[in-house]
Amino acid sequence: MSEVPSVSSKAPRAPKSANKTATKAASKRAGAVASGPEASAASAPAAAPAKSAPQKAMERMGLTRDIDLALHLPLRYEDETQITPLAAAHDGDTVQCEGEVIESRIEIRGRRQLLVKLRDDQGGQVQLRFLHFYPAHQKTLAVGARIRARGEIRVGFFGREMVHPSFRKVDEQTPLATSLTPVYPTSAQLPQAYLRKAVASALKRAPLDEVLPPSMIPAGLPSLRETLQFLHHPPPSAGLSTLEDHTHPAWQRLKFEELLAQQLSQQQAQRERAHLRAPVLRGSKGGLHERLLGALPFALTGAQQRVTEEIAADLALPQPMHRLLQGDVGSGKTVVAAIAAAVAMDAGWQCALMAPTEILAEQHFRKLIGWLEPLDVEVAWITGSVKGKARQKMLDAAASGEAKLVVGTHAVIEDKVSFARLGLAIIDEQHRFGVAQRLALRKKLADSLNDDTPGAVPMEPHLLMMSATPIPRTLAMTYFADLAVSTIDELPPGRSPIVTRVFADGRRDEVIEKIAAAVQDGRQVYWVCPLIEESEALDLKNATETHEELSAALHGKSVGLLHGRMPPAEKAAVMALFSSGEMSVLVATTVIEVGVDVPNASLMVIEHAERFGLSQLHQLRGRVGRGSVASVCVLLYTGPLSDTGKSRLRAMAETTDGFEIARRDLDIRGPGEFMGARQSGAQLLRFADLQEDAPLLSAARALAPRLLDDYPQAALRQVERWLGHKTEYLKA
Ligand code: ADP
Ligand code: MG
Repeated sequence: MSEVPSVSSKAPRAPKSANKTATKAASKRAGAVASGPEASAASAPAAAPAKSAPQKAMERMGLTRDIDLALHLPLRYEDETQITPLAAAHDGDTVQCEGEVIESRIEIRGRRQLLVKLRDDQGGQVQLRFLHFYPAHQKTLAVGARIRARGEIRVGFFGREMVHPSFRKVDEQTPLATSLTPVYPTSAQLPQAYLRKAVASALKRAPLDEVLPPSMIPAGLPSLRETLQFLHHPPPSAGLSTLEDHTHPAWQRLKFEELLAQQLSQQQAQRERAHLRAPVLRGSKGGLHERLLGALPFALTGAQQRVTEEIAADLALPQPMHRLLQGDVGSGKTVVAAIAAAVAMDAGWQCALMAPTEILAEQHFRKLIGWLEPLDVEVAWITGSVKGKARQKMLDAAASGEAKLVVGTHAVIEDKVSFARLGLAIIDEQHRFGVAQRLALRKKLADSLNDDTPGAVPMEPHLLMMSATPIPRTLAMTYFADLAVSTIDELPPGRSPIVTRVFADGRRDEVIEKIAAAVQDGRQVYWVCPLIEESEALDLKNATETHEELSAALHGKSVGLLHGRMPPAEKAAVMALFSSGEMSVLVATTVIEVGVDVPNASLMVIEHAERFGLSQLHQLRGRVGRGSVASVCVLLYTGPLSDTGKSRLRAMAETTDGFEIARRDLDIRGPGEFMGARQSGAQLLRFADLQEDAPLLSAARALAPRLLDDYPQAALRQVERWLGHKTEYLKA
């Protein structure tokens, strides 16, 4: 049923690096930077009083300590240890050659270019061609100069050629490199040559003594010093392939170190949490949570029941809960949150429920007052758009403890609200928040419970995070050692599965016709567009235009528009019309991505589906399939598709299971990015791969408690060495 052309295998995983853009920049520069005269002029970081641009660039990349530089590993290597006679160089070979300039001229062939002819000692010749060049290039490449050049040989009609090779001026005595030349991830302001020197000198200074007792290092792996020396400056005999696919023992050692640091910090955070206190929240017999259960219009699914019990068990403990409730979109997390809140309120404490957007906060609020107000619970609602007196009233109610439940957007609860007795904080769609935000929030929440009594054990409210972007089980159990996870693995009964179809944009008119027919039958439709304003660069259809187009095609039916830049009141009004069924089609940007719940909507069209990430597509699609009518999701794409684009759309067409989607996402992107900004705020694993390196991970996981118990100083140094300033992040 998918119309995506098939791809043979998964795209090879890009080499890992601290930063994707840096990687791109690095490979670009690798070819270009050394060709400028500034390359040879670049000097090692001097002890200059003012920071130079490259120094600042290094800081921005987090390369501040010697150890950071020592752990900044090459993306790849170049072999500059030998000179290849030109006569022996074949088309497509990347070689280093050396010879005398016998001709140097500027020519206009379509565009202005510098053409330099080089003859080596064996009489072989090559033409070096530069489309971008400065007078300094010409000067260096003057007739008679001896030049060492490295680049790809192309054999064409006029003989051998290298386009934009890297080069430098040498004499007969200039020695060749004795090890492979590292190419580092870098950024635009940081020349490769500068970074190379900075790394080489940091590597000499960095304290690389063994932190771990020798018995704890897996057998057969080199020392850390040997490891880093080798990885930065491998001998020419080192196989490039094992270096690049990271199976070399040196890589194994490094990954082990990294995984160990990560496990140590997670397990340490877990131990610290065990010393914190939290209010014991236990519902009473016949209390609020039981009355809520009795009043619900449906029975909980088995999975909802199970996770509710897991949460209740945590709440009854005097240590703060740190639990993630994950469940696919539509699995019914909100009611579980409501029950947890009821338990807290029953025990005489307040609860805060935070959502990432106003739309979602309002929807939660409506749902919760629908459930709770008949039971005489006062619910306060606080978002940015609640203003003036109403706002003050809500704030007062929260501060006095009169409002037992406060629902609102994150930002507002974080900054403005104070609580009398906050026992439980619930964060919906937690993956939408950065780690720094989560840390700040936790601090703020804890502040509301602690006074300055000397010697008092710090208190923290219980924390329940909810997410529809599941963490695959292996990751949850290992990587997030400090996080308890409850999973809703069952959808409420009576849902019919969503059918997903993938169409090229050329069939848009056909899709519009089908939509029109469905609307005539009384169905409701979401039409999702990626951007709200024309962006020439991306050539995206703008939501406003689509809105007009659909309004024209569906005359007589109400077509609404919802986008991120509308004032909140207007958004709420549009949502209300769509929720009530008065509006047939909602053209929306991704503001509807999270949590919107309109069970009657059964059709969704996503334009430019190729521009969305897999988990985002899955979230969006989760807006339909919430009622008993069979739902359809149409993914319109504009080709040509990249390999990952194809894999994503294929995954969407093949499965609606959020866990399977997460697993495939992990496959397509690799855990580095999966865990990236969204899940943990910082890409915490640079080198190890949680799947490929599972044996190293289990070794590290088993070793961590022994180190923490018997060698606490070593454990601390290990974490410091690897994570430095990121340590705090691991606790969020
Ligand atoms: P999500 O997990 O995506 O946040 P929601 O909490 O919004 O899902 O629930 C989706 C829909 O399913 C809501 O309309 C909710 O009222 C309904 N629902 C939740 N639990 C059940 C259940 N056990 N039986 C029937 N419907 C349920
Ligand atoms: Mg939800």
